[in-house]
This record gives sequence, structure tokens and C-alpha cells, in this order.
Amino acid sequence: TLSNSLAAADMAHTLHPNTNLRAHEAQGPMVIQRGEGIRVFDDKGKEYIEGLAGLWSVGAGFSQKRLADVAYQQMLKLPYYHTFTHKSNEPSIRLAEKLAEITPGPLTRAFFTSSGSEANDTIVKMVWYRSNAMGRPEKKKFLARTKAYHGITIASGSLTGLPVNHRDFDLPAIPVRHLTCPHYWRFGQEGESEAVFTERLLAELEAVIAEEGADTIAAFIGEPLMAAGGVMPPPAGYWEGVERICRANDILLVADEVICGFGRLGTPFGCQKYGFTPDIMTLSKQITSSYMPLAAVMISDHVYAPIADNSAKVGVFGHGFTASGHPVSTAVGLENLAIMEEQDWAGNAARLEAQFQGGLRSFADHPLVGEARGDGLIGALELVADKATKRPFETVGAVGRMAAVIGHDEGLIFRAIGDQLALCPPMIVTADDVDEIMTRMGRTLARLTDAAHK
Ligand code: PLP
Repeated sequence: TLSNSLAAADMAHTLHPNTNLRAHEAQGPMVIQRGEGIRVFDDKGKEYIEGLAGLWSVGAGFSQKRLADVAYQQMLKLPYYHTFTHKSNEPSIRLAEKLAEITPGPLTRAFFTSSGSEANDTIVKMVWYRSNAMGRPEKKKFLARTKAYHGITIASGSLTGLPVNHRDFDLPAIPVRHLTCPHYWRFGQEGESEAVFTERLLAELEAVIAEEGADTIAAFIGEPLMAAGGVMPPPAGYWEGVERICRANDILLVADEVICGFGRLGTPFGCQKYGFTPDIMTLSKQITSSYMPLAAVMISDHVYAPIADNSAKVGVFGHGFTASGHPVSTAVGLENLAIMEEQDWAGNAARLEAQFQGGLRSFADHPLVGEARGDGLIGALELVADKATKRPFETVGAVGRMAAVIGHDEGLIFRAIGDQLALCPPMIVTADDVDEIMTRMGRTLARLTDAAHK
């Protein structure tokens, strides 16, 4: 059958990221063939709610015909052009203008790449270039957090703070210090209040700056809400404190909004949810609802000016990709943002937040659930071996994988990050959809209790 031949071909001829490859060769793929709204269908016709919106990214759902039409029309008109030297194209100009309009604070310019990783690599290079241009070649270090996810290329993978992305790849390969992950439930100490936890993290930030020397640190990068590391909202006051300390030490603040951007948290951008204003912002994923690969680095004038001045001096800003400002990707991005505004994704997330987060928290009593957490339309259930002590399972990820398999059987796709079950549905979900997601998650957890104790 088609299904068997596809599976066999996949098992024989592909290398899948982020999986146990030997297990994959034995078990084979889940082949998704078709999408409709918040749902996808596999090669056997089985229906799933895509509770992770693909990879936290298909805001518009899986059948938005307007995006297909725009891509088709743009391909007929001008399928490719670039933005090297002084060349440009209309969709990339219009999208840059649109992003400058909707992003908060002083972000005025866009640099386009194809992926979030390339965007964060670009940020590292821009920041280094700027420090050199300003005659401060020693101001190059980055600050990030453990459990952060900023991508997997050499530089962005170095900013990422997950052992699985460092170990065996000889990363970090750029100067970066990873600070404590701001997840109170897991990293708060015995008897420590959330406010004291925040103070401790801010004191750590100040201590690291003092130890390294502020004149050696170029930038602090963070996801407003840490997503791919396990969906961890920051404690109250954290971002205001980080922003204050960065400003006092002349350290650029970079918001990696690859997941939090475009309404996910109930505000247009994640930094607005937590009350800070970055100097640089990374955008991707929901920028096109992932119908086309696209990412953007947004920068403010004080980041741009030294870079521009130096390029005038040496003749060029020697960085850029073949697909920087790709007209089909940027045309799809523009249309996607028009849809986002018409459908009011941020408003939808704000309206559904109580129901979605309440649904997740209703599982907090489950014997395997250590914490139910999240903000807006993103959340996670962290499964533990012992609720009282928060002790993780001995073999990390085994119960999570089991949950994902049962979830698939129940028609719900979520992401098992180790033993953390992450949900991040398309932005077009309705109240009924949220109910259905929670119903399927509930059935999954009920079956998991039996399975995990066998
Ligand atoms: N930054 C964040 C916050 C992400 O979540 C991701 C991907 O999940 C990236 C960067 C990397 O993006 P990409 O996979 O497009 O390289």
C-alpha cells in the first residue's frame, strides 16, 4: 500500500531531527497528508487536533487558502528576487514596513532570514559588528538562560541552553554565560517565595555582569516565555528587573519572540505581556503561519546607526542570505499578518486564556502532574514520579513518549519535551476547540495513569 511504501522509504532514506534514529528505523514515521483548520490527517485518514500548531507555528490553521493564493500570484509575478546590495522587492519592503508599525518600542528595521536560527545567528553577528564599529571589540559576550531555545546553528545553538543541543556538538562555540532558568516551580528553593526567587535571579545577573565586566557583555537574549525548553512563564517582576539591569550596564536586550510573537500570549508580542521593551527582536514561525520559511530580525535605530556608519566606512555590511527578503515568503507573511489582524489573534488568545489555562490547571490533581502552567494560548503539564517532592522520572522522557503515543491514539498531537507535555494550538481555536483539546488530553491522562503504573 501507499502507506507502507511511504513509511519504508522514510525509514530507509531520511534522517529525522530530534529523535532516536535507530528507534525510528524500527518504528517508522507518522505521515501527515492533509490539513483542515486546526486538524491534520495522516496517511490512513486518521484525524488529529494539532495541539502544537505544527511546531508552535501554524497560527492560521492548516487550510488558509488566502495564503496559498498569495504565494501563487507572487510566484507568477516575481518568484524570486533578493535584497543584496541596493536591490529590493515590494513584498519584503511592505512586510518590513508592517513589522516596524506593529512591533513595540523603537524597532524600525527588519532583516529577513529563512529560519529563527539564522535570525539569531544574524543577531550575534550584528551585535559583534556593532561593538567593533563602536571601537569596543571586547564587548562581545552574550547572556542567555539554561533551558532557553534559540535555535541549532553554531551561534544560535550556543545561545540555546539545553544539554541535548550542546552535548556531542561541542557547543557553546561563542562566548555566552547561561543564567538560572526563571522557572519558579522547578528552580525556586525550599521556602523561597516567588518574589525572593526573582530577586535571587536578578542578583545573579548583576553578579555575573560584575564578574565578567559590563564592558565585555554585548547582549542579553531571552524568550519572553521560555517555550521549547518546557513552557515556563517568568516570575512576576523578572523582566522589568532584567531590563533595568541591562540598561544600567549598556547591555542590549534581545527578545526572541519566535514563539511568543503575533498574539500567542494574548498581547501582540510577548514582551508586552511581561512589560519590557527590547532593542532587538527575533520573529519567525507565526510570521507566515509557517506556510513559507521566514524569520525577521527587528532592530532599533541605536543598533542600526553604528552598523550603517561602519558599512559606509568599509564599504559593505558583509552579511546576508540568498533568501533574505524572499518575495514569496514575505508576500505570504504580509497576507498572514492581515489575516491575524482581521481575526484578532491576540484578542482571541486573551479571551480564551482563562478557559485554556483553567483547562490545563484542572489536571493539576492528576497523580502524575507536578505542575500545570502557561500563559495565553500556550501551556504545559509537567509529569513527575512524585508530586510531593517534584521528583522527575528516573528515565527522563519515557512517560512523556508514552503520553504522546496515547495522545495520538486519542486524536491529539502535543509535544512531549522530556516529561513535559506542551500545548500551543493554532491561533484560530474557538472555545469549543479548547474544550475538545482538554477532553482529549483528559482521556490521554486517564489512560496514562494505568500505563505508567504497569
Ligand atoms: N527561537 C525560538 C524561541 C524558537 O522556539 C525556535 C524554534 O523553535 C528558534 C528560535 C529556531 O527557529 P528555527 O527552528 O526556525 O531555526
